[in-house]
Amino acid sequence: MTIKKAPSRGARKAAAPAAASKVAVAPKVAAPAKSKSASKVPVAPAIADETSAPMIAAATSDGSLAAAEAATVGTKFSDLGLSAPMLSALADAGYKHPTPIQEQAVPLALRGRDLIGLAQTGTGKTAAFTIPIIERLLGGPHRTRALILTPTRELCVQVEESFKKYGIHSGLEVIPVYGGVGYDPQTKALRGGVDVVVATPGRLLDHLEKGNVVFDELEVLVLDEADRMLDMGFAPQINRIVAQIHPYRQTLLFSATMPPEVEALARKYLRKPQVVQVGRRSGAATTVQHYVYPCPKEKKSALLTELLKSKAMDSVLVFTRTKHGADRVVKHLEREGIKAGAMHADKTQGQRTQALEDFKSGKVRVLVATDIAQRGLDISGITHVINYDVPQQAEDYVHRIGRTGRAASTGDAYTFMCADEIAMVRTVERVIAQQIPRISVPGYDFGT
Ligand code: AMP
Repeated sequence: MTIKKAPSRGARKAAAPAAASKVAVAPKVAAPAKSKSASKVPVAPAIADETSAPMIAAATSDGSLAAAEAATVGTKFSDLGLSAPMLSALADAGYKHPTPIQEQAVPLALRGRDLIGLAQTGTGKTAAFTIPIIERLLGGPHRTRALILTPTRELCVQVEESFKKYGIHSGLEVIPVYGGVGYDPQTKALRGGVDVVVATPGRLLDHLEKGNVVFDELEVLVLDEADRMLDMGFAPQINRIVAQIHPYRQTLLFSATMPPEVEALARKYLRKPQVVQVGRRSGAATTVQHYVYPCPKEKKSALLTELLKSKAMDSVLVFTRTKHGADRVVKHLEREGIKAGAMHADKTQGQRTQALEDFKSGKVRVLVATDIAQRGLDISGITHVINYDVPQQAEDYVHRIGRTGRAASTGDAYTFMCADEIAMVRTVERVIAQQIPRISVPGYDFGT
């Protein structure tokens, strides 16, 4: 195959980059960011962009793609053949129209098809698989009939929350199963019998081996963010888990990218899948405005503080390359009187949950994270993502900035670029197929 909270806090700033309002911004390296619209380059349709025509592609028997355009204008959830309780749950969630991935994936999944969904977070992909699963399980026997595998604990919890939100009238029981917390409550819940298990692979395998859960009656398997699961080395666990599920199931695979490893996984576990693709591979959300700040390494922390003086930077997710880097940035911000939380693999699950809660509730406006938080974090109202370090993998840039500009809002993505990161930024620009405007802040740039 050749395929691949809290509500928003405060009003969003609509015009120039936040920094421009406080510090003198003199664009000088490349195309200046004259206005938001000037630098807005449509790459992939994001949730807000429901009128754009996404690609729907059907996998042929030899695995190649026959792509066709599908119209998305004016579709309602009621056009998708959903039950009254589901329509009511979606109305309660405040959703007016299905997103392109939902519009395409839901009817196919309702018909029982295996599906490859090429979509990143922020496109509404979680509901695209959650809605048809709930519809399928409604009124059926109380057995474990659906399993969703996710790469991270955070995503696991978010998928569980989606099930609860969209399944509010369904009476279905859902349990999240992930590591870093005690076994007992999970064991008790699993043994007590649940309809849907949402799990990270490692912990689920432990439970399977202990006989705490059986998948004899499993009907639907979802591999969510398959590329990330493989990146994280979960292939052996996934294989062992899927080996325990009978082949006459429905399998839905979602992935932001389709490297050969994911293709191989799809070939192994899916039967005649339909491929649903939203946007171009590696596309960055259109609602995001990108800017690069050229800045010597030793001045990055001072630049960050300077930018954070802007009130428009209401809810800011900062990415660093390393755990120590994240801790250093948090300490620096605290010294400067800016409350910040840290989120990385050395933090306990409790600390991570707390940091996320504080950030979501607005108690702290800055969350500093390593790539652990890169995907799956569903926090509405993030106004800015700052790449304190340029991500080493260009594709990670797309996922990082996918944290802002989610679901019909807009966001800014700033990248601090020191001298030895110039080549990495160029690679990012190639991957997202757009040049990112440079903003040079006197006092914090290379000229000073
Ligand atoms: P996801 O791509 O699944 O991570 O979803 C991103 C965000 O979009 C979540 O905050 C969802 O609550 C939101 N969302 C999903 N579907 C819709 C919809 N049809 N209309 C508005 N927001 C949605």
